[in-house]
Amino acid sequence: MKIDLRSDTVTKPTREMLEAMFSAQVGDDVFGEDPTVNKLEEKAASIFGKEAALFCPSGTMSNQISVKVLTQPQDEVICERYSHIYNFEAGGLAFNSGISARLISGDRGRISAVEIAEEINPHNDHYAHTSLVSLENTSNRGGGSFYSLSTIKEIYAVCRKNNLKLHLDGARIFNALCETKDTPDAVGKYFDTISVCLSKGLGTPAGSLVLSSTDNIKKARRVRKVMGGGMRQAGYFASAGIYALDHHVGRLKEDHRRAKALAEIIMGSPHLEELMPADTNIIIFRLSPSLRSEVLLQKLTDENILAIGFGKQTIRMVTHLDFTDDMLDKTIKVLRKLLYS
Ligand SMILES: *Cc1c(COP(=O)(O)O)cnc(C)c1O
Repeated sequence: MKIDLRSDTVTKPTREMLEAMFSAQVGDDVFGEDPTVNKLEEKAASIFGKEAALFCPSGTMSNQISVKVLTQPQDEVICERYSHIYNFEAGGLAFNSGISARLISGDRGRISAVEIAEEINPHNDHYAHTSLVSLENTSNRGGGSFYSLSTIKEIYAVCRKNNLKLHLDGARIFNALCETKDTPDAVGKYFDTISVCLSKGLGTPAGSLVLSSTDNIKKARRVRKVMGGGMRQAGYFASAGIYALDHHVGRLKEDHRRAKALAEIIMGSPHLEELMPADTNIIIFRLSPSLRSEVLLQKLTDENILAIGFGKQTIRMVTHLDFTDDMLDKTIKVLRKLLYS
């Protein structure tokens, strides 16, 4: 039994998802003629209470397109210092949009309305023009932490007052909603653009969506083209997305339950220095010098369990669709052996 906890992107499509893909009606989406892509876009937009959507190959692209649509060169985006758009998108903010980032050291990846208000530049030729705030929900580097609706409302109010646009990197938004029990449209209405990944917890082989107004999506389509993201018979992938929205959202609570079970075992280890609360499907922990993280990772690999190094002495595990209760039992057994000796 091979257990892969490196990321929730490692999942393979289920038989049922593959069957949906096999029978997809397709056309040329660059001509706007793929009925399945159109159906996915309409469905996702309506779930989040948005007018329109755009299907993209990756979450990086849907984030970068959103930022490009909402900013002009010389603008500045306010975001958390560990946010994906800043750290893990290959410098795309500067490359694609010609903007700078104002970073806030947040609370496990989350920033507050008060912190944002303090970082808005005055209107003065010396400064970059603050025009955008980006939130990540759940936060990857924050160990799957999520925002409450009331915090989002406060941030929205600051943005409104200061004429700033608000973007949501919702790569794992359904993991957040699974915990807060808010509906997608209750959260969606506060954001100008939302990026949602279908290939993380939802388990499709590829694909992300930008959700926004009809006007913004029209601009986004053109940006997607210049980035080389216009796909042809993309309905095969889109059908996996439709299947996932119908069948893989409700089950995310299983991933969260299993993450909590793993965190519980890790918590008692004498080699533990810090464990972030496993709020959703991500577990991040830092080991004390008595157990080197590379050593633990190698020993886990020897037991056919993969996790990922996430900075100094720090390890990340992510639960997902392909991590079953049998695998949970085995992982707990192995962790008990390796972390308690
Ligand atoms: C995975 C991820 C993305 C998008 O990544 P891709 O690999 O490009 O699909 C964006 N934001 C966050 C927080 C992520 O975890």
